[in-house]
Amino acid sequence: MTEGRKLLAVFAHPDDESFGTGGTLAHYAAQGVHTGLVCATRGEVGEISDPALATRETLAQVREDELRCAAQTLGVGELFVLDYRDSGMAGTSENEDPRSLVRAASEQVVGRLVGIIRKFRPQVVITFEPNGGYGHPDHIAIHRHTVAAFHAAGDPSQYPDQGTPWQAERLMYTAIPRSFFVKMRDRLVEAGVDVSGFDRFEGDVIGRRHYRDCRCLRLYRCQVAGPTVSPYTVRAGQLLPPPA
Ligand SMILES: [Zn+2]
Repeated sequence: MTEGRKLLAVFAHPDDESFGTGGTLAHYAAQGVHTGLVCATRGEVGEISDPALATRETLAQVREDELRCAAQTLGVGELFVLDYRDSGMAGTSENEDPRSLVRAASEQVVGRLVGIIRKFRPQVVITFEPNGGYGHPDHIAIHRHTVAAFHAAGDPSQYPDQGTPWQAERLMYTAIPRSFFVKMRDRLVEAGVDVSGFDRFEGDVIGRRHYRDCRCLRLYRCQVAGPTVSPYTVRAGQLLPPPA
């Protein structure tokens, strides 16, 4: 019996779910777990790997289409696309846009996430770890808002207009194994690329076994150029208790 088992992933941009948790989402969907995905922006200031795929004006729609395709491929049962604007990389002018996720009032974003959690009623919520994988301002923001929403959703005194309180049991963060960064660094050194930026990953990166390929990244043609065989792996461990 897997009825009633639910898992909700909360991320910032189309493709975050596939880079970080694609294998996990597919793994649990295949087990009959009802999975949900919140994407806070449409990634409108992301890269355009091939001008034939999108323009600056069409990128948001193209990326949303890619997201819907990826969600379908991963077996995501419910997709929630919020309308915040992609805040861009740290230090860019996009950070100043009043529509951007990083400029949105915490209470408003948390309130919307609380409403989704209370409606979806997951046992497990997944989001970025505090540094958002590599420090993207939107990744850090959605981590912060999701942590707050995870706790607020179970508190009847908070956001009473957002539905019946629901306390999810576990809050999980995505993790990239240190061994992956070591391998990537070695490849870049071989290619003659400056790897000094990797020094900040020398600390304690949480690593786990049970990783598997996430082929879904191939669907994000704007962000991942070429015929990609993803070097990324994701955790497909034991997030939910075994079926009763
Ligand atoms: Zn992202």
